[in-house]
Amino acid sequence: MKLIRHGAPDHETPGLLLNDGRRIDASGFGSDYNEAFFSGDGLERLAEWAKTNAASAPVVAPSVRLGPCIARPSKIVCVGLNYSDHAKESGMPIPKEPILFFKSTSSIVGPNDDVVIPRGSQKTDWEVELAIIIGRRASYVSEADALKHVAGYALHNDYSEREWQLERGGQWVKGKSCDTFAPLGPFLATHDEIADPQALKLWLSVNGVMRQNSSTAQMIFGVPQLVSYISQFMTLLPGDVISTGTPPGVGLGLKPEPVFLKPGDVVELGIEGLGTQRQTALAFA
Ligand code: ZN
Repeated sequence: MKLIRHGAPDHETPGLLLNDGRRIDASGFGSDYNEAFFSGDGLERLAEWAKTNAASAPVVAPSVRLGPCIARPSKIVCVGLNYSDHAKESGMPIPKEPILFFKSTSSIVGPNDDVVIPRGSQKTDWEVELAIIIGRRASYVSEADALKHVAGYALHNDYSEREWQLERGGQWVKGKSCDTFAPLGPFLATHDEIADPQALKLWLSVNGVMRQNSSTAQMIFGVPQLVSYISQFMTLLPGDVISTGTPPGVGLGLKPEPVFLKPGDVVELGIEGLGTQRQTALAFA
């Protein structure tokens, strides 16, 4: 299944993207895609609901805004430098253990919403990433069991303000958490739709120029390792997001000098099997 949410910001309603490309409204199902939904048998019940109701459910017009594909989760856990080439371009050593940091959940927006360059920012940058959506509470989970705790996957752009992340002291969270810095979607693809999460092409372009073009095969720590590893330090709740790191080609790493976003720039990105996003950069107003 492909889960979508549609409507005005903060007033989205759940829906489904069908295999024929139609978007249908799933308000009749009666639950948003939140922690309670994932922690019960929400996905199974939704699949049952769709069998009987998909054909007659209201169609959502293509012009209707897509929101983030899940309701606001308890946390977004991000993994830093998880592609060896990206570590190299950042001038950082290849990590021996996953680098973890948080991103505020208030930064989540829809996949095609504008990205607002924050007040005073000079170094707003892009990062295409595979996001894992947790389906079942995970605490001290083994790698062998990790995938049983995954509901599915989504496309995420881990926008980053490099000065605030790297030059202002303390933790990376300062440069990762601004409003609009976490477009998520267009849909959550349930795990059965993705045969191998470590074999997905992912790419990102700015103003039509390809900047990132890689594969999740290049990840240092894969999906089972990350779920297991993070669950040794905290409980992952149903609906939580793990963003698995970005491949090379971020603005910070470009030669001969870094390139950062300016108002009017258009960022497009995608992951095989997980759809595409498009954001226009806006000045802070
Ligand atoms: Zn990232």
